[in-house]
Amino acid sequence: MTTKNRLRIAMQKKGRLSQECSELLKQCGVKIIWNDQRLIAYSENMPIEILRVRDDDIPGLVFDGVVDLGIIGENVLEEEELGRLSSGEDVNYKKLCQLDFGGCRLSLAIDRDKNYSNVKDLENAVIATSYPNLLKRYMKEQGVSFKSILLTGSVEVAPSAGIANAICDLVSSGATLEANGLKEVEAIYHSTACVIQRKEPLSAEKQALVNKLLARIRGIQQATESKYIMLHAPKDKLAEITALLPGVENPTILPLANDQTRVAMHVVSQENLFWETMEKLKEMGASSVLVLPIEKMLA
Ligand code: ATP
Ligand code: MG
Repeated sequence: MTTKNRLRIAMQKKGRLSQECSELLKQCGVKIIWNDQRLIAYSENMPIEILRVRDDDIPGLVFDGVVDLGIIGENVLEEEELGRLSSGEDVNYKKLCQLDFGGCRLSLAIDRDKNYSNVKDLENAVIATSYPNLLKRYMKEQGVSFKSILLTGSVEVAPSAGIANAICDLVSSGATLEANGLKEVEAIYHSTACVIQRKEPLSAEKQALVNKLLARIRGIQQATESKYIMLHAPKDKLAEITALLPGVENPTILPLANDQTRVAMHVVSQENLFWETMEKLKEMGASSVLVLPIEKMLA
């Protein structure tokens, strides 16, 4: 198959998203021959090639139709989109799905010892950030004027270096902020990774492959959220026990050898089972409650 007919997907080469992107492709059944030296990696079992780049380049590659799909943090996607729109350029893409990794928030943070009551306290502040467009949009909504300083790395040292009064940076646990004597005061944007597709239509074969990958991603997401639950239950409590299990419609009921009063119940639940629910089930007479992970699901 020629390059033109292969589905081209851009993902981050090295960083917080790269490991999980390759894991996702693997779970979707896409086998890739990885080579650290190469910009492009090829799949050995599907007409797919992977372009491995810095995450900042991924939205543009999709907007410009250089790649068919991109896996990218929404923060980077929306920052690039706002940047292009503000310079009068067109932005074309379709968001196909959100992913369950790369979760983080873009937050304003200030010196730990400074008082803070609300965002108006940042009126006329100098704020260091790698996300000037997302910050500008937020501050405009809040009606607060400020000056931004663009830093592409080490944003968290800006206040102690005397470069800025505050920062606007990505946070997940908050440990980096704390280590730099800062406190988070506002979360202005919540992000996860997502899959985007270029706007111009793909060939029928490529679109069919995209649809297949999407269905597999949904299958993986559903499976991680769902659990396979097995338990033994008294026959006369089946309705009450079923009502306690989240998202269950028709449980499978199986007879138990040498026991006329109890049955085995197998169900796929769309949520995990909390200890509290398991304890309630036990109070109702259920026993041998097992909660098992599901690897893949095709509804
Ligand atoms: P690149 O060299 O590709 O430009 P980078 O340094 O810009 O990499 P990473 O730090 O690898 O980017 O982060 C990639 C993405 O991971 C972020 O844009 C964000 O969507 C997500 N992410 C999740 N948690 C965090 C976090 N705590 N800090 C930064 N990014 C995070
Ligand atoms: Mg980057």
